[in-house]
Amino acid sequence: MSQPKIYFGAGPAKLPQEVLAKAAEAILDYNHTGLSILEIPHRGKHFEEILEESKQLVKELCGIGDDYEVLWLQGGGRHQFAMIPMNFLGESATAGYIDSGHWSADALNAAKYYGGVEVLASSREDHYTHLPHWPKAIRKDLAYVHFTTNNTIYGTQWPDMPECPVPLIADMSSDIFSVQRDYTKCALFYAVAQKNIGPAGATLVVVRKDMLDRIVRSLPDALSYQGQAAANSLLNTPPVFAIYTSMLMLRWIAAKGMEQIAQENRAKAKLLYDCIEQHPAFYAVAQEGSRSLMNVVFRSTDEAAERALTARSTEANIEGIQGHRSVGGFRASIYNAVTLADVQQLVEVINSISGS
Ligand code: PMP
Repeated sequence: MSQPKIYFGAGPAKLPQEVLAKAAEAILDYNHTGLSILEIPHRGKHFEEILEESKQLVKELCGIGDDYEVLWLQGGGRHQFAMIPMNFLGESATAGYIDSGHWSADALNAAKYYGGVEVLASSREDHYTHLPHWPKAIRKDLAYVHFTTNNTIYGTQWPDMPECPVPLIADMSSDIFSVQRDYTKCALFYAVAQKNIGPAGATLVVVRKDMLDRIVRSLPDALSYQGQAAANSLLNTPPVFAIYTSMLMLRWIAAKGMEQIAQENRAKAKLLYDCIEQHPAFYAVAQEGSRSLMNVVFRSTDEAAERALTARSTEANIEGIQGHRSVGGFRASIYNAVTLADVQQLVEVINSISGS
C-alpha cells in the first residue's frame, strides 16, 4: 500500500486512518455477519442500529433533544438549497438570506424559484473577503433566515450562532462539529458529509419538529421534510455505506470530545495563519476577524513562490492545497481529521520558500 498523503482537500476530505480501516473491514465482512456493509439490507436490524446510533451521536454532539429530527438525505448541499424554500417559502412570502460567499449565493438563487428573497447582508462587493455585518434588525414576517456558517471557498466563518427572531436555517457543511456552538438557535441546520463527517453521498439534516407543521406546499414525500421524517430517512434506499462511515466518524469525534476537537482546530488554524502572516511572499485572503478555522485561503504576491510551494508540497507528499477553481491561489482545508502534525508539515514547506 502506498503511504497516505498529507491531505488538505476541501471535500471529499481527509478521514482518520482508523475510521478508514474500520470502514474497509466492513466492506469485506460487516460485524461478522458474512455480508458486506455494501450488501446488508437497509430495513434490517443491522442498519437500524447504525441509523439509531448515528442519530443519537448527532444529538449528543449538538446538545439537542428530542424536539429535533435527525435525517440523512441525499442530493448534497444543492438539494437542500432547493428543498428548504420548497418546504418553507410560500409563493407570496419572503425569506432572508445572508450572502457571504459562493454557496450562500447559490442557496439564495435556488430560493427565487419558490418565493421572494431579501438579501439581508452581503460582502459580495468585497469579493467575500470578510463576513458581512449581521443585520441589526430582521423583519419578523420573513419565512426564515438562511446563512452559511463557514464559507468554504473564501475561508470565512461566523464565530457564533446569531440571534434571529424568525426560524434560523444554517448551512454548516464545512464546519459542523468543529467548534462548540449553540445549535438550538437553529430551526434547521444541514451539512454535506464529505468534509467533517464522512464520505460524499449522505447529507445530514437536523430539523426542529415544529418546523414540520410549517410546510407551505403540498409535496411528494421525497421532497418533504415531513415525508422524510415520517419514513425515518428510509423512504428510498439510503446510502448505507456513507451513513455507516459517517457514524464511525461521529464516534471518533465523540470519543475525542468537542472541547478537545475545538482546541485542536484553533491550534491548527493559528499555526497556519501565523506562518502565512509572517511569510514575506504569502498572505491570507480573508480579513482578520472573519477568518475560518476550517479553510485557510491564501495567495502569493510572487509567482516564483507560488510555483515553489506547489512543487515542494508535492515533494513533501502534501496534496489538496490548490484554491477553488473559481478563485485560484491556495486553500488548506484543516477539518477535524487533519492533525496538527499535518499542518506542521505544510508550515515547514511554506517556511522553506524564500520570499522577495
Ligand atoms: N455548502 C457549502 C458550505 C459547501 O462548501 C458546499 C460544497 N462543497 C456545498 C454547500 C455544496 O455541496 P454539494 O456539492 O454536496 O452540493
